[in-house]
Amino acid sequence: MSIAESELNFAKPDNMLTIGLTDNEAKKKLQKHGLNILAERKKISPLKILFRQFTDVMIVILLMATVISGFMGDTTEAVTIIAIVIVNAILGFVQEFRTEKTMEALKSLAAPYAKVIRNELQISIPAEEIVPGDVLVIEAGDRIAADAAVFECSSLSVDESLLTGESVPVEKHSLKVKNSYINSYDKKTSVYMGTVATGGRAKAVVYATGMSTEMGNIADMIQNIEEDETPLQRRLAHLGKIIAIGCLAICTIVSITGILRGEKLLTMLLAGISLAVAAIPEGLPAIVTISLALGVQRMLKRNALIRKLPAVETLGCASIICSDKTGTLTENKMTVRKIYASGCELDVTGNGYNTEGSFLMGNKPADPIKTEGIKMALEIGAMCNNSVISSLQSNNPAMGKIKSLFSKQQPDTKITGDPTEIALTIAAAKAGITQGHLNSCYKRLDELPFDSDRKCMSVICKKSSGEIFVFTKGAPDMIIDKCSRIMTSKGIINLDAGARRTVTRINDGMANKALRVMGLAYKRLETGTYRTESKNIEKDLIFVGLMGMIDPPRREAVVAVQKCRLAGIKPVMITGDHKLTAAAIAKELNIYCDGDKVLTGAELDRMNEEQLSEVAGSVSVYARVSPKHKLMIVRVLKKLGHIVAMTGDGVNDAPAVKEADIGVSMGITGTDVTKEASSMVLLDDNFATLVAAVEEGRVIYNNIRKFIRYMLACNLGEVLTMFLGILMMLPMPLLPIQILWVNLATDGLPAIALGLDPPEKDIMMRPPRGTKDNIFSHGLLKLIVSRGVFIGLSTLGVFVSILYFLNNVELARTGAFMTLVITQLIHVFECKSETKNIFEISFFDNMPLVMSVLCSVVMILAVVYVPVLQGVFETAALGMSEWFLIIGFSLIVPILSSMIGTGRKIKRQ
Ligand code: ATP
Repeated sequence: MSIAESELNFAKPDNMLTIGLTDNEAKKKLQKHGLNILAERKKISPLKILFRQFTDVMIVILLMATVISGFMGDTTEAVTIIAIVIVNAILGFVQEFRTEKTMEALKSLAAPYAKVIRNELQISIPAEEIVPGDVLVIEAGDRIAADAAVFECSSLSVDESLLTGESVPVEKHSLKVKNSYINSYDKKTSVYMGTVATGGRAKAVVYATGMSTEMGNIADMIQNIEEDETPLQRRLAHLGKIIAIGCLAICTIVSITGILRGEKLLTMLLAGISLAVAAIPEGLPAIVTISLALGVQRMLKRNALIRKLPAVETLGCASIICSDKTGTLTENKMTVRKIYASGCELDVTGNGYNTEGSFLMGNKPADPIKTEGIKMALEIGAMCNNSVISSLQSNNPAMGKIKSLFSKQQPDTKITGDPTEIALTIAAAKAGITQGHLNSCYKRLDELPFDSDRKCMSVICKKSSGEIFVFTKGAPDMIIDKCSRIMTSKGIINLDAGARRTVTRINDGMANKALRVMGLAYKRLETGTYRTESKNIEKDLIFVGLMGMIDPPRREAVVAVQKCRLAGIKPVMITGDHKLTAAAIAKELNIYCDGDKVLTGAELDRMNEEQLSEVAGSVSVYARVSPKHKLMIVRVLKKLGHIVAMTGDGVNDAPAVKEADIGVSMGITGTDVTKEASSMVLLDDNFATLVAAVEEGRVIYNNIRKFIRYMLACNLGEVLTMFLGILMMLPMPLLPIQILWVNLATDGLPAIALGLDPPEKDIMMRPPRGTKDNIFSHGLLKLIVSRGVFIGLSTLGVFVSILYFLNNVELARTGAFMTLVITQLIHVFECKSETKNIFEISFFDNMPLVMSVLCSVVMILAVVYVPVLQGVFETAALGMSEWFLIIGFSLIVPILSSMIGTGRKIKRQ
């Protein structure tokens, strides 16, 4: 017998349904069975990272040449070079190790969660903590966390293609429970780890976890952050190779020319190799990765979890953000404000999840129970409902979504469930209709769960008298189409065109006030038997009434929409809600402006992609849409040349989210399938978080541009100094050891610090980056080349001047060495902005940069003024006149460029 079966024999479904495992039991089982994972994740060992630092071809050649030169006599130089290489390697190791750790931490955050019942409560726990005996709560869109036997099920279908290759979802059934014990289960009553629930809901008891599952036998799929390289990383790796070839060619020319001119062979060899080591930007990909990783961490602090690294880059290009309404643009805290039934319209008072409130007709108190239609509407709303208010009724078997909310006013009340349904439960409770009372009158037999295509939900209940009823709630336009009769003050009559018009008028009136409206209907089943899969269940219903609930816009969303507009990004609302409700809220948020169009799902059905592309530019709200419309909208917007960010939560949203340039899923309400299809998860479901992520994406890209500008200009300066010096038949302007020291002092830390630069103030006032732009667009290449040439010429200028006036090579080299470092350290501050010159930027808003520059200054002064180091680095102490020369040469261009104004002006839209 497998562990699974032995576990199941102890699993008593009646208890499990309400209790699940206790924390203690779960802990013991976790110790016994281990984590619910397929294989240990491979971690890169720190030693391997350290070793990698020494395996770079150029470093190996440099070390070999150094050892040879050591044997030939210059031991001090050899030891120093080796020491520099080791310090460089340690720096590289620290960078890579930190990046590795950051990525690891992010991966564990992206790990999946599962809903289980423990200690009588539905909670969400990391899927790896699931143990045999746990009760899984499965809803459409969930990825199933372990192999489990289904003991309660309504219309559950599961996509098992991962295991079987069969793409058609399989229907699952609840197993027969004999003597309250589960003894056997088969394929039809089992769900398997890694498969996806495509519809319905179920509860199942886990019988196998980790490597004991079916999946454990065949696969090592781990759902995590994908480690794809970003397009930028790929392009930079390619560019790095080209630069490396160019550098090697120049270094070879430098070495050969020097040797031909009679310099020592070994010295020239070392000079060539040192120059190559200094000039080849081998650290570039690592710094890009670090900036991306640190940026991803910053995004996480702002509640945006990046699942696919390339999204970070694409975020900065986003030109349209298509957002869901409920919960993303609004608070998803619903309160019923109006009820209409039997020709009577009542206002409901009270706030949030507090059950205190009253019913008013006009301004006068009214008793809702007295009007049969109103009472019926409230009852349907409360019965066709999976939310639970524990202080009103604690043992309701129905459990809602993972979210649990606590009422401020009623600290003992625990509420779980979908906010729409909570609002209906609270409204009924205000009229004294409690779940406890309803459960004693009706027994729920079955449920047709809500889905965003049908836009409604039904339950089948048996009354104590034996009659069986269907209670349905949903979008009024969908409900009314399913009704043939209506409940009025004069009894139940046929639903004729006049009655439909009245219902539509009342619905529109509520929707125009930004209320989300729910239609309510029922019927009595004539026969005692029914099939939930029958389409007839939701047919020939009796229309009862409407309930309008308020869901206020998020305050931060108003600001975020404004930010989008300034940043040249168009915000678009895509919602399953009614056209008028959507438009009213879009107006409050400033997403909808005068002259904009609102398109509905029905209108989209009559259009093809060409027709939509003609009008899409002026549409700011899509209402009553189904997930399939979202896919069409994304495709059309992409064809129009937009970079589209699209949010989604439900299982059917996954294709649209996948198709979007930036697919965004919801952390709280999102299904596993949509999360896996997305490149980013909004942990708080908030639109403002998405806009913050766009801002962060722009900052990261900008910072990458900054350090690329810095590193390449500096390296070009170093190569030019040596190359031109040799061409001009001058002595070598810098010794190999000096070149390596400059590299150590100026390349690593300041470049990384630039990657941490705070956002420029106008970052969200610029239009989005064009997709065809490359990293060097908008004049960056010109800036790099001109500054590289300037650094090289200034260094040579100082070298030649000292040589000419003082005829002292050692002093001239020290001057050149100093100039090379100072021009670079000035340039690092210039790189902070492409629009402002060095006298306009803020020096102290990036303290790591200031500290790294100070560190470089100390390193460089030490080799010039500390006598021991002077000997090693062959430098000489500089006097006042040399310093004047150095500072003069270093400042010419920054001063000139600030006077002419080098900064490119970024166009505003
Ligand atoms: P979004 O703006 O995020 O798309 P939405 O809630 O408006 O959110 P859907 O969830 O697709 O969109 O809902 C569409 C319609 O279905 C709603 O306007 C409402 O009338 C109805 N509806 C929503 N939730 C339920 C529910 N739990 N039961 C029955 N009907 C529902």
